[in-house]
Amino acid sequence: MFQNNKHRIALISVDGDPAIEIGQEEAGGQNVYVRQVGYALAKLGWQVDMLTRRSSPQQAAIVQHSPNCRTIRLKAGPAEFIGRDNLFEHLPEFIQEFQQFQQHQGFGYSLIHTNYWLSSWVGMELKKLQPLIQVHTYHSLGAVKYRSIGDVPVIAAQRLAVEKACLETVDCVVATSPQEQKHMRVLVSSKGKIEMIPCGTDTDKFGEAQRSVAREKLGIAPDAKIVLYVGRFDRRKGIETLVRAVAKSSFRNEANFQLVIGGGSRPHQSDGIERDRIASIVTQLGLENCTTFAGRLDDTVLPLYYAAADVCVVPSHYEPFGLVAIEAMASKTPVVASNVGGLQFTVVPEVTGLLVPPKNEVAFAGAIDRIITSPTWRDQLGEAAQQRTEIAFSWYSVAFRLTQLYTHFLAQTASNNRPQIAA
Ligand code: UDP
Repeated sequence: MFQNNKHRIALISVDGDPAIEIGQEEAGGQNVYVRQVGYALAKLGWQVDMLTRRSSPQQAAIVQHSPNCRTIRLKAGPAEFIGRDNLFEHLPEFIQEFQQFQQHQGFGYSLIHTNYWLSSWVGMELKKLQPLIQVHTYHSLGAVKYRSIGDVPVIAAQRLAVEKACLETVDCVVATSPQEQKHMRVLVSSKGKIEMIPCGTDTDKFGEAQRSVAREKLGIAPDAKIVLYVGRFDRRKGIETLVRAVAKSSFRNEANFQLVIGGGSRPHQSDGIERDRIASIVTQLGLENCTTFAGRLDDTVLPLYYAAADVCVVPSHYEPFGLVAIEAMASKTPVVASNVGGLQFTVVPEVTGLLVPPKNEVAFAGAIDRIITSPTWRDQLGEAAQQRTEIAFSWYSVAFRLTQLYTHFLAQTASNNRPQIAA
């Protein structure tokens, strides 16, 4: 067999490739989390392999991000985009490839950190085949998600069973907010170990640009009033609520008022269909003149959009964490968010932004107006928001806490494997 290397760890994210462009269908917070956690853990001295599936023949099999951090793409089904709900049947192939990869490399991972329920199943199966410590982050819980959608997919029962088995059997589950932790306990299982370690954000990248400079670079007027949305086009994101709220805002007829909707979409795919639906609501409400669909915002412009905005709105129906909220906060932009999930943890009402009931367009309109009306208050909220992210949500502190967790389990395994001295 192969040798175990205790500083080499695998972040497994079958469906969320950490090396691809973010901001389109099914590429969002999970991809960012795996990538940033991987980078930060590597800086702390771990040898990090981030394993995902190959979703296009053009993709490199291995992407070396830094000497200690790489993305490895394994075969799991045809090399094309496959929606999460249809991936389960390809997971046995991923497991086989994972084992072959270890054989070729001549080592075996002693710790894996799996992401999303599909990878949790991969991890639990691998655990039957080799000694392993498994840490898991859900990113989304079926038990919560299926409460709020009408058309529950065929895979739902399988997902719920895997999520329960995962919580009850893996070494540790990482909840990214106290709200997610509570949902796990109430809706998934009372058994199993949970540690709360939040998501992070790049506090250098976000927060670098001043509002006036960002506006100049983006060609936005200095006196414009900008309401920003950033994220995927998905019904769960509640973009419709935001558009309807903007229609009710007392600023809507002012010439310098603008709604900017940032996020990628592909024609005829589910995100493209949602974008078209949102665009038709914009038209129905007569908001075309004050609404811009900015498309996918990459790293070169995303920090500028956050900095340029007066307020960033996160109108999700549910959010286990919600990276966009802390990215805006790190950029000194207050957040108006739905009073749900991880947003209740990141946004401090009246201090770093405002929380309002989800799907309540009147409440969103009122909150947006309150912030836009007072630039002084907007700036106070922005300052406090930035401070909060620096203290609580840096990737470095996330990686540091994960390191403590991993080290604890590795040390425990090492002491269990030590030969016992007879009394
Ligand atoms: N994002 C991006 N460009 C876009 C839209 C989104 O880079 O055009 C990123 C955004 O900055 C954030 C992630 O996608 O890091 C979305 O994460 P979040 O947790 O808010 O939502 P999820 O996609 O996980 O539901």
